[in-house]
Amino acid sequence: ATPTAIMVGIGKGAENNILIKDAESLELGHKVNAVILDKTGTITEGKPLVTDILWNDKLENQNEYKEILLAIEGQSEHPLAEAVVNHLKEENIEQAEITSFESITGKGVKAQQQNGSKYYVGNHKLMVEKNIQIETTLMQTAESLEEKAKTVIFFGNENQVLAILAIADKIKETSKKAIAMLQERGIEVYMLTGDNSKTALAVANQVGITNYQGEVMPSDKAAFVEKLQADGKIVAMVGDGINDSHALAQANVSIAMGKGSDIAMDVAKMTLITSDLQSIPKALELSKRTVLGIR
Ligand code: ADP
Ligand code: MG
Repeated sequence: ATPTAIMVGIGKGAENNILIKDAESLELGHKVNAVILDKTGTITEGKPLVTDILWNDKLENQNEYKEILLAIEGQSEHPLAEAVVNHLKEENIEQAEITSFESITGKGVKAQQQNGSKYYVGNHKLMVEKNIQIETTLMQTAESLEEKAKTVIFFGNENQVLAILAIADKIKETSKKAIAMLQERGIEVYMLTGDNSKTALAVANQVGITNYQGEVMPSDKAAFVEKLQADGKIVAMVGDGINDSHALAQANVSIAMGKGSDIAMDVAKMTLITSDLQSIPKALELSKRTVLGIR
């Protein structure tokens, strides 16, 4: 496309809430035949809310543990942690003291108190890895919550799971339609998420995606992009988080959410200002018109 056509294209993008940083992605967009979507914050609103907290039967002083949980999640920057913090603050829970805090990539967080007690908050994988026991009934409840598209996080000490928390994140109203629009253009649509596979399946079903993967580590997201590229695909990666940044950098066309993290926007060559996925087919169409010289 001519420099003028590019300028026009970038201008039209801006009118349609699509911020385009470079000419290359505008020229390549129309060739995209595979789109990878992150789940949390991309397909969903990314505004998770705690819907249930279920405690281990044997526990008495739940409030004391809530104070510890608040202290731990208060240190984390994960959106799930924010949901937990908001929920506990609404219950007027005070904050306990913790002396160390560490995040465990793709799995959760670990913290320690002055007295040496260790705590973990994260997904089921983390509990298994740390050999933390979970009551059968609690695990069954967790599974049924996940089948309802809720994300379950586990809070445990070194020995046992103390509580599980169910967190719901609404699917954006326009996600399903946007995905159908892409599929109608003959584009393969994939969903990748660090969330557990059951929740991933439930969300994928609700938006009409059959190609999905849960429990994906951030580095696996980039590897997945590479794999599709090796199969000859021109890949657009769409994400909102720090954990998407490697995959965004690897993709042929990278698209961030305007309501997402700054890092994702820094890396991506396009940003959807309103975070509405319907802007993706619009951007691809805009690319086509730009290349063909249609105003
Ligand atoms: P994603 O953003 O797709 O959820 P992450 O790699 O950031 O991927 O996290 C993977 C999983 O680890 C989360 O889905 C969650 O189960 C768990 N996790 C990470 N951080 C926390 C936290 N602070 N509190 C609870 N769970 C967490
Ligand atoms: Mg995300």
